[in-house]
Amino acid sequence: MNSMRVNGGRLWSRLMQMAEIGATPHGGCNRQALTDADVAGRKLLSRWAEAAGCRVRVDAVGNLFARRPGREDALPVVMTGSHLDTQPTGGKFDGVYGVLAGLEVIETLNERAGVPTDAPLSRQAVKASFEVHIEQGPVLEQKAKTIGVVTGVQHMSRHEVVVAGQEAHAGPTPMDMVRSATAALGFNFLEMISGAGHDSCNVSAVAPTAMVFVPCAGGLSHNEAESALPIDLEAGANVLLPAMLSMATTAAPATQT
Ligand SMILES: [Zn+2]
Repeated sequence: MNSMRVNGGRLWSRLMQMAEIGATPHGGCNRQALTDADVAGRKLLSRWAEAAGCRVRVDAVGNLFARRPGREDALPVVMTGSHLDTQPTGGKFDGVYGVLAGLEVIETLNERAGVPTDAPLSRQAVKASFEVHIEQGPVLEQKAKTIGVVTGVQHMSRHEVVVAGQEAHAGPTPMDMVRSATAALGFNFLEMISGAGHDSCNVSAVAPTAMVFVPCAGGLSHNEAESALPIDLEAGANVLLPAMLSMATTAAPATQT
């Protein structure tokens, strides 16, 4: 397992900078989709991504992609991300953590002697997709676990798709990579079902997908008081890094999209 680690301080500092856009009086965020604050947030993200050598594009429905080139740019991509917008009285971590953790993975690969990957990191045919997210529930905190490896989503018809996506492909799956990264890094972890829906539920319909949870205080989310510890956020990004790197450098076949 690779010994690279993300820069947790930079991740935290960017989370706090992004939280200033749409900041609410009670320490939360109001950065609803399609508002001026959302536009400002996307601009800031684009600036960081371009400075990290990514090409930024927006698709027909407004999804923003930052693409780190691979050695073979025609290969299907290894993707990660989440939502940058918030609820009207949202917090600093829901969604945006998964976006900035992905950017942190790219920054880390760039810094460590410009670690190249075979597959590009972003979109086109998708080989594998990852999302890190705060738990939006109290279980990890109550059980004193750092990492939640999500094995399914409750109350969603797409639950079956997540499971099928996991089993239908030869070779290592994104969830295998998450499990082995978590074990190699020595994190306390729990396999769990997500009580809430996430972007990855939709992605799992078209590509092998894995989700990682980190604890959030009191299970509070979609709330201005939403809070997560820097060390846990760093841990989640440190799981993402080797998991994405191994998917982007192995010869495992891509899914058909
Ligand atoms: Zn979310």
